[in-house]
Amino acid sequence: KRRGKNGLVRYSGTGDGGLNADLPHLLMRALAETPTDYGFAVHYQPIVSFADGGVVAVEALARWTDPVAGPVDPDVFVTVAERTGLVAAIDDFVLDRACADATALAETYGRPIDVHVNVSAARLGQQGLAEGIFDALARHGVPASRLVVEITETRRIPDLPRAVEVAETLRRQGIRIALDDFGSGFNALAQLHSLPVDIAKLDSSLTDVDVAPERAAALCRSVVRICGDLDIVVVAEGIETPARAQALAALGCDLGQGYLFGQPVPVHRLAALIPTQPGPATAARLPT
Ligand code: C2E
Ligand code: MG
Ligand code: MG
Ligand code: MG
Repeated sequence: KRRGKNGLVRYSGTGDGGLNADLPHLLMRALAETPTDYGFAVHYQPIVSFADGGVVAVEALARWTDPVAGPVDPDVFVTVAERTGLVAAIDDFVLDRACADATALAETYGRPIDVHVNVSAARLGQQGLAEGIFDALARHGVPASRLVVEITETRRIPDLPRAVEVAETLRRQGIRIALDDFGSGFNALAQLHSLPVDIAKLDSSLTDVDVAPERAAALCRSVVRICGDLDIVVVAEGIETPARAQALAALGCDLGQGYLFGQPVPVHRLAALIPTQPGPATAARLPT
């Protein structure tokens, strides 16, 4: 009944197979109508400066709980959405929410902070992407300089020259571009070469200093150095332990993100997550 008047949803089974088979259909329904009524939400995860432990940004992440099937893993529904052409609707919903939440975010931290949103690489070259982003910023009165667009590089960018054009259009207005999961996907270095990038988010597989300390350290040091030469800010992803934070800060990463600093949570729960101002409590989790 929660699906609305003209809705009829078939579940072909109680197991995972039923959910997978129906997933595109369920997603489409959820996104076509008011997404919040159909279990879509946005959570935020802090991004912290290694220099002083202060939160400099949050990443907006899509969440979807189907009323019947329950919470669906973002990697699952984003992949399905990419295959079925629905990912633009997810990106747009998250962008709109993130812009609408900008005021609450600034209140939480006592100052404006950057907001990161994810944009599927497949979309980067598409018509109307930049205009849609400018429109969302304008509607909510958010300055372009506060927005970071994360492009995941796990998928090949289909039309690179066109993607570069769109990225340049965004950057001319002050929006920054981040390469997400850097080092895990296609042509990491080639993408750095051709795409105008402001931020590289080092994938946790690359920064796994616990598994292969020497190799990880050598890789990180080199990537940090390349990024430094290109004026690219380095964010280390997936930081779960103080030891990892310490190692990555020592290797020259600028910022960190991970469960150590807080899991993705709804906007009203961010304040409880971590000291909102740089100070001893956050610094204690960081290298000295
Ligand atoms: P991502 O953009 O690389 O986001 C970071 C993911 O790592 C998030 O997973 C986050 O919860 C997880 N994470 C953060 N810290 C840690 C940690 O310390 N340990 C571990 N094990 N994981 C950590 P999440 O939210 O499940 O999202 C998965 C992916 O789905 C995202 O990876 C992104 O590629 C995609 N995604 C999420 N929201 C959107 C969206 O609005 N649009 C698009 N196009 N993709 C999205
Ligand atoms: Mg991301
Ligand atoms: Mg990432
Ligand atoms: Mg990822």
